Amino acid sequence: MKIIFGGVRGTSSIAQPDFMRYGGETTSVLVRGRAGEAVILDAGTGIRTLGRRLIENPTSEVLLLLTHYHLDHIIGWPSFPLLYRQGVTLRVASSNGGGEEAGRILSRLMNQPFWPVQMDSVQATLRFEETPDRYGELQIRSCPVHHLGGCAAYRLDEPATGASLVFATDMAWKFSSEEEKRDFLRLCREPSPCGLLLFDGQYSRATYPSYTGWGHSSWEDAVEVARAAGAGQLLVIHHAPDSRDEQLDRIKRRILVALPGSGLAQGGMEVEL
Ligand SMILES: [Zn+2]
Ligand SMILES: [Zn+2]
Repeated sequence: MKIIFGGVRGTSSIAQPDFMRYGGETTSVLVRGRAGEAVILDAGTGIRTLGRRLIENPTSEVLLLLTHYHLDHIIGWPSFPLLYRQGVTLRVASSNGGGEEAGRILSRLMNQPFWPVQMDSVQATLRFEETPDRYGELQIRSCPVHHLGGCAAYRLDEPATGASLVFATDMAWKFSSEEEKRDFLRLCREPSPCGLLLFDGQYSRATYPSYTGWGHSSWEDAVEVARAAGAGQLLVIHHAPDSRDEQLDRIKRRILVALPGSGLAQGGMEVEL
């Protein structure tokens, strides 16, 4: 299983020189399975570069899993290059509200006056469906997490290789109920501790009081969760839009001390599990 990070910035995209090492594109992550499966998690602006990559390595079908509908996670959809390619099937699912709702919401983004091309006239074949349990050789599970308006975390397992990934963007760990914490940790731990945990660490505990109620976690929360889950590696995602590279470098060093081998995800990064 290979993980390719199209975008890891939270809330809004940014394009300034001192933000570029960690990247300014919002959340979108591509998972390539051993058998060629292509699963994209969320459709932030990072989905544009992922789409170009999928055109370079032609793929006839992609499964897009959406965690929720805050703009930073769907704003890249109308610009997704594969929408405008014939012979491509895009399957779209969400464990947060279901596939049909995903279709309704994404089509609103492409309605007048927001976008010139309407969703019923794109070249790709679109299928909006419930989240499948399996996709090729990949097994898929999910659970709801604590976030304003709701959000889902996903787990992908590849039994043939033993690789596993938990994708948990946009979650307020500190305000999660005991039941929500238990269900999420179960997702991380079962059937075995996940190899890679991607977790919302938008803030730090020092800055958190200014953002209480915004629906996110601190990087210290991410470390605590990774330890509790027994995750093989933690990469923090959903970096604050005003966090410069040098600030993120400092956080990365502190995570490395707390959890050797872990750190922060960067746009363009690739991880082989
Ligand atoms: Zn977000
Ligand atoms: Zn959100």
